[in-house]
Amino acid sequence: MISSIKEAVNRRSFLGAAAAALSAGAIFSPIAAAQSREEIRRGTDNHSADNPGPVNRLLQQENASSNTPPDTDHGDVETFWYSFELAHRRIQDGGWTRQVTQKDIPDSKDLAGVNMRLTAGSYRELHWHTANEWAYMLYGSARITVLNPDGTIFIDDVKEGDLWFFPAGFPHSIQGLGPDGCEFLLVFDQGTFSEYQTFLISDWVAHTPAEVLEKNFGLPASAIAKLPTDEEYIFPGTIPGSLEDDKRAVGGKAVESKVSYSFRMRSMKPDFEDAGGSARIVDSTVFPASKTIAAALVILKPGAMREMHWHPNSSEWQYWLKGSGRMTVFSSSGKARTMSFNANDVGFVPAVAGHYIENTGTEDIVFLEMFKSDRFSDVSLNQWIRRLPQLIVREHLHLDNGEIDRIPHAKEPVLK
Ligand code: MN
Ligand code: MN
Repeated sequence: MISSIKEAVNRRSFLGAAAAALSAGAIFSPIAAAQSREEIRRGTDNHSADNPGPVNRLLQQENASSNTPPDTDHGDVETFWYSFELAHRRIQDGGWTRQVTQKDIPDSKDLAGVNMRLTAGSYRELHWHTANEWAYMLYGSARITVLNPDGTIFIDDVKEGDLWFFPAGFPHSIQGLGPDGCEFLLVFDQGTFSEYQTFLISDWVAHTPAEVLEKNFGLPASAIAKLPTDEEYIFPGTIPGSLEDDKRAVGGKAVESKVSYSFRMRSMKPDFEDAGGSARIVDSTVFPASKTIAAALVILKPGAMREMHWHPNSSEWQYWLKGSGRMTVFSSSGKARTMSFNANDVGFVPAVAGHYIENTGTEDIVFLEMFKSDRFSDVSLNQWIRRLPQLIVREHLHLDNGEIDRIPHAKEPVLK
């Protein structure tokens, strides 16, 4: 009895019966005009989905999945897309910066991001801040410095595909190297973090009386008079000499940090790789300095998908480096929404919400997924199904044992 009721409300049987009824009564019934969104999208003779009013064609093309959602999308799921291309770009002599925060994606309380460019020799001024800072180099190379409270210093050169982690409150600097400086992504573990609210060395000296500075630095008034009187933030500088020379000049091994704050992510061996793409995972188990941010760098070939999964420990903040595709987020209460993504876009997935990403384009998708956690952790829908006794699965999903056996039994982050 129970199973026959279930059968009657099974979505596929229900839709099948409805479609049969529609075609039988098509000539006589006005209900014949009711088509599924999928049918409307494919059809050319139905006006239900057309849009005779004003249209922003460029945005509509960029957001095809919102404009014409898959038939299975349902309910009100908060937006989980934004793009650095929509953010105000603060351009100064020496580079620029822009940010995507919780103001842009209201549900994103854990992480916020900044995209920054420094030309060769230019600095992001010496500073510190309230949040931990994780970074991925998108282009070129940079010299980074960060001071530990114990007085030891870390100095390194990072290039495309490398990352760094600067703990909250630890003072640091970034300088673009030759031949063309750098561009990078910063991720902070506070959703409301603003890159424009950092503690700058120039601001502090500008807002301290000269006599205090003289006493603190042990310098005469003539030297104090040279200090900056306004924030520098991003400004041009001189391309430095070799990394080894810099390290030696500040005191060599005696003052060198025991902790490494950089990591070569792109050049590491993938943790997973198959015909559909690859995944590299970096968290505190391989990069001990990164205590609050875990990340995966995922490559999806055309036609491949990031499998149906969720993360039990954290929300997910994504940055798309390359390619185009779509992500569907499944919420509780039967809600699901699909949005389109392209390079330089930001994606977000609430904690424990199910999701998958499809490569709908013709080139590889490369994206980063970041989590406010010391560990990367995900639950694979396939693996869950395959770890259960088959009776349980048969009676929930109405599959037979042979069909259940065909579902991948191992976690496969990327599926072809
Ligand atoms: Mn910083
Ligand atoms: Mn995920």
